Amino acid sequence: MIIYSVQCSHGHVFDEWFSNSADYDTKAAAGEIACPACGDSKISKAIMAPSVARGGAGSAPDFPSCPAGGCAGGGCSFANGF
Ligand SMILES: [Zn+2]
Repeated sequence: MIIYSVQCSHGHVFDEWFSNSADYDTKAAAGEIACPACGDSKISKAIMAPSVARGGAGSAPDFPSCPAGGCAGGGCSFANGF
């Protein structure tokens, strides 16, 4: 199964499931896909917004940054420069 964002001629965008891309072509050509908002069957594929995958690994600091001289009452090992 594949989901497409489709758009009617009035600009309504909705998601529709299809067996495959050929299934979309068949149903679109046959007018079997109706807009849930207005019932229009003149639909086309909508431009899908790109989903950005954020690689968070490596961006986090390896240790907490301590305020100079003030961390844990001076007992923090990080504050002593190791
Ligand atoms: Zn519509």
